[in-house]
Amino acid sequence: MSRHWRWCCAASLTALVSLACLWNPPANSTGFSANQKILAANNAERWYRGNLHTHSLWSDGDEYLEMIAVWYRDHKYDFLCFTDHNVLQRAERWIDVDKSAGKLLAYDKLRTRFPENWVEDRMVEGRLQVKLKTFDEVVQKIAEPGKYLLVQGEEITDKFQKKPIHMNATNVQELVVPLGGESVYEVIQNNTNAVIAQRERTGQPIFVHLNHPNFGWAITAEDLAKVRGENFFEVYNGHPGVNNRGDDIHASTERIWDIILAKRLTELDLPLMYGIATDDGHDYHQIPSRKSEPGRGWVMVLAGELTPASLIENLELGRFYASSGVTLNRVVSDEKGLTIDIAGESDVEYTVEFIGTRSGFDPESTPVVDKEGKELNVTRRYSDEIGTTFAKSTGTSASYQFTGDELYVRARITSTKIHPNPSAVGDFEQAWVQPALGPGAKKSGTDR
Ligand SMILES: [Zn+2]
Ligand SMILES: [Zn+2]
Repeated sequence: MSRHWRWCCAASLTALVSLACLWNPPANSTGFSANQKILAANNAERWYRGNLHTHSLWSDGDEYLEMIAVWYRDHKYDFLCFTDHNVLQRAERWIDVDKSAGKLLAYDKLRTRFPENWVEDRMVEGRLQVKLKTFDEVVQKIAEPGKYLLVQGEEITDKFQKKPIHMNATNVQELVVPLGGESVYEVIQNNTNAVIAQRERTGQPIFVHLNHPNFGWAITAEDLAKVRGENFFEVYNGHPGVNNRGDDIHASTERIWDIILAKRLTELDLPLMYGIATDDGHDYHQIPSRKSEPGRGWVMVLAGELTPASLIENLELGRFYASSGVTLNRVVSDEKGLTIDIAGESDVEYTVEFIGTRSGFDPESTPVVDKEGKELNVTRRYSDEIGTTFAKSTGTSASYQFTGDELYVRARITSTKIHPNPSAVGDFEQAWVQPALGPGAKKSGTDR
């Protein structure tokens, strides 16, 4: 497998129109959308915890598919999507144990965990080989309807020039071969279109999201903002090499999010972009360490059933939040504002920040330049009026009341508890609440 993979870790007009309708409920007589969204467990729905980004020995992970499935089940996850690079776990494939990423250690652990009638191995010219289980075999062995769901995915692993452009397709039905393109934007759009076309052709829900935008500093806010049919990105990816925080030259993933939202809700006339958290796990044998490990980031989806269709429907309705440790009980958004209730742990404090952009924000931007004054191909610099912190409080509940001109408001909750196995050293446990459209979106003509 390539070392590049090691470092890594996605239309038809009909589909776009139908999706756009989901995000743009009709306005009421007051002129503002009356779509009250209450996210809380009830008799018909519950929160499901899942990871949407996982690598195994089928690409550049160092663990067997079934062992990874067991790890997530044992760590209180409800669903897991396998997303190996440009491959589905379907063919007959034998690997040399000594040459595999997990080597004998992984094999021995597999043998111990599944001692009888499971592991298929053989000797070939003195070399121990083991047959990788297929996705369907692992589902049959480990998944349990209504209790633990395994989903077929793919990390569509593409690039533009040297920039890695990776997109995950969740519940993919057929392999998506990366399509390339003449720009970063075109690569993202081409692969998005391929997933949407497959979704239409097969009639199966397939969820596409853009992975780790700051991996290899590949993707700018301007690139991603204008993509049609792709409304999800990784605001948090657990791989230590993906630069979630940005640096002096590059915007953080949260800054990228706010720029995208401000652009989409005004000049681009596109739907909200939602933020997800994932593991992007590759390394399963030394936890915790500074490698790319499971258990760092996940999504909590409020859904009626533990099925790909129900989960994807609710993801696309924005009925979820992203987390690296903080658990929420309830999120309510309506015409008045956004309210959050946290499932607080003892001896832990929580800071809630409501972040957004107002309709009259300054849209001007300037390029980032190097020491010689040469323009760099990175996210441009914008006014602080994009992604303003409107309110900040501590406690296990917080509420933000719209004042009249907010395009959107989202929330970030930060715990005083250090993440036990962070993506970046010093990270605290956090949660990211999805942006809610504000009354300013109507004034800007986006509440269409
Ligand atoms: Zn990955
Ligand atoms: Zn990747």
